[in-house]
Amino acid sequence: MKFTVVGAGAMGLRYGVLLQEAGNEVEFVDGWAPHVEKMRAQGGVYVNRDHQNQHLVPVKVFYPEEYQRQDQDVLIFFLKQMQLADMLKRCEHFFNDQQYVLTCMNGMGHVEKLLQYFKPEKVVAGTALVATILDKPGQVDFVGKPGAGTMNLANYTEKPDELTHQLVAELEKANFHPNLTTNFKGTLMAKVVFNSVVNTLCTLFEITMGEYAGYPGADEMSKQLIDEAYDVCERDGIVMLNTREQELASVNYVSKVANPLHYPSMYQDMSKNRPTEVDYINGYLVKLGQKYNYNAKTHAFLTHLVHLAEHTRQAQ
Ligand code: NAD
Repeated sequence: MKFTVVGAGAMGLRYGVLLQEAGNEVEFVDGWAPHVEKMRAQGGVYVNRDHQNQHLVPVKVFYPEEYQRQDQDVLIFFLKQMQLADMLKRCEHFFNDQQYVLTCMNGMGHVEKLLQYFKPEKVVAGTALVATILDKPGQVDFVGKPGAGTMNLANYTEKPDELTHQLVAELEKANFHPNLTTNFKGTLMAKVVFNSVVNTLCTLFEITMGEYAGYPGADEMSKQLIDEAYDVCERDGIVMLNTREQELASVNYVSKVANPLHYPSMYQDMSKNRPTEVDYINGYLVKLGQKYNYNAKTHAFLTHLVHLAEHTRQAQ
């Protein structure tokens, strides 16, 4: 298949490089000049696999304004939520009504923006349960052994078509272990809820997921946040993939067993003095709750705490 990855950061590179290695035709579009220039100068991107085996992978990378191609099967969007609106505007000239869209960005807010440019039946979104770090311009680390991680995805229409199945087959070949569901919002919100607990608290306290789960009061804190998040989602009619108890078990499993040494993604942003996606995670739950006169006050307080930390560090 033919893919264009919009956003050649950590995750865009992971998806693009692995799809390319699985035999697909892949091009990248990115707007961060130091990174684009570095990849062009060195003839590709340096890829580490779990901090080892650094090697150069040739990639074709373009600035949005110079990119003209329009015959892709799928455009893959991997940007930070707050970058998306601007990037969509910069890329609009190469969009058409045949292209499908895949995104596994964290948080919520991106789907509405994508729907301003693409038809609902072309939008596929999901969650990526894998860690990737852009070490510096031109160098990325695919954390975890080859084949690590899983992903869930669903069509916006909840009706998978032929191209969706083809896409899933290519993701399978590229070792992303895709799980196609027919519950769009439930699939996306499962990760929002998970991130609203572990991602946010680990970021605030600069600790790993294992360190959080090791605190004797962690279950009580997780439960309070999960309960509030579920109260919001249920008011919005979202059919959650897990019960509240299963969600707590999942927080514990991922933090204690699967990824105890991992610092979640908002921590990576905070440590680089970049703004975080908290408004699209805890903040999204707060806003959704307000629609139903429900005050998700713990999530609101955590959103403020993360913004306070960003403000203190003058993140930009
Ligand atoms: P990223 O920050 O690595 O890249 C996103 C964009 O930001 C790219 O265009 C990149 O070139 C640009 N960029 C990177 N560093 C920059 C800097 N210092 N200044 C200016 N621009 C910069 O983001 P990502 O980790 O690929 O995340 C994309 C989406 O995927 C987010 O929604 C994220 O939450 C989600 N996600 C990330 C991971 C992960 O492990 N990285 C896992 C699952 C989901």
